[in-house]
Amino acid sequence: MQIGFIGVGNMGAAIAANLVRARHEVAIWNRSADKARPLVDAGATLAGSPRSAAAERDVVFTMLADDAALESVLGGDNGLLAGLRAGALHISMSTIAVATADRVAAMHLGRGQHFLCAPVFGRPEAAVAAKLFIVAAGASADFQLASPLFGAISQRVFYLGSSPSAANLVKLCGNFMILSAIEALGEAMALAEKGGVAKQQLVEVLTGTLFDAPVYRTYGTILAEERFKPAGFAAPLGLKDMRLVGQSAESLRVPMPLLSLVRDHLLQTIAQEGEGIDWSAIAQVSRKNAGL
Ligand code: NAP
Repeated sequence: MQIGFIGVGNMGAAIAANLVRARHEVAIWNRSADKARPLVDAGATLAGSPRSAAAERDVVFTMLADDAALESVLGGDNGLLAGLRAGALHISMSTIAVATADRVAAMHLGRGQHFLCAPVFGRPEAAVAAKLFIVAAGASADFQLASPLFGAISQRVFYLGSSPSAANLVKLCGNFMILSAIEALGEAMALAEKGGVAKQQLVEVLTGTLFDAPVYRTYGTILAEERFKPAGFAAPLGLKDMRLVGQSAESLRVPMPLLSLVRDHLLQTIAQEGEGIDWSAIAQVSRKNAGL
């Protein structure tokens, strides 16, 4: 397929590489062009603007940091909206606000362009291994068209129906639960460590008994090894997600007291450790609070 790919950061680079490997013709655009170079070496082409990454393509992916980044590549003479032909499909994989997804869907509809939201679960290692989980929503025919592409980059795809932003709401629920699980792990580890039990041993017991889930296995190991730099999922992106969860919670009138706690711990982590730390470093807050 003729594909455009916009945004080759930690996640986008790995996803785009798998699409190139699956022999699709991929045109890449990234704000910092140097990050696209390894993909061009692997067989992709370099586009000079979001518009030219989208032009003449059947499908264009975006995998960008946040709502502002997506909006900046969409608009203007050199933007994705101006380049994508009527009938072609934009697949947004970024974790963005529900309201933004609704707005972008309306923009595409007005131009006769198609739109799927397909945010993902899985860190960059999972993206490299084509083991992402994709949560997709949008018109069923668009989902069918995208399915072979999703097959090249993921281990499982969930389809949530015709409203694209439903996928973003589910993704935000998931990220809230991941950070809550990290908080729980961090507190339990501080308790075990202070009581003289090795953190890795605690993880082994938990993941070998009632907590045999990817989230506890992945983050249990990261926390036990204190592997917070370089960031696989940078804390400021996690803070952005907690803000988006809060926006949806506020507009739907859903109190989420646990959200306030994990968001504050994330903010504390960024204030103390800087922007380049992984979001899982919130576990260090519990260690410090315990005098470790
Ligand atoms: P990243 O490594 O920080 O990459 C962000 C990308 O967005 C880069 O291509 C960056 O371009 C681009 N960008 C940022 N601001 C921009 C702007 N104003 N205009 C144009 N481009 C801009 O982030 P990531 O980890 O790949 O995450 C991408 C998305 O996936 C986020 O929505 C994140 O929440 C989500 N996600 C991440 C993970 C994870 O574990 N990392 C897992 C699931 C979902 P430059 O290269 O020029 O900076």
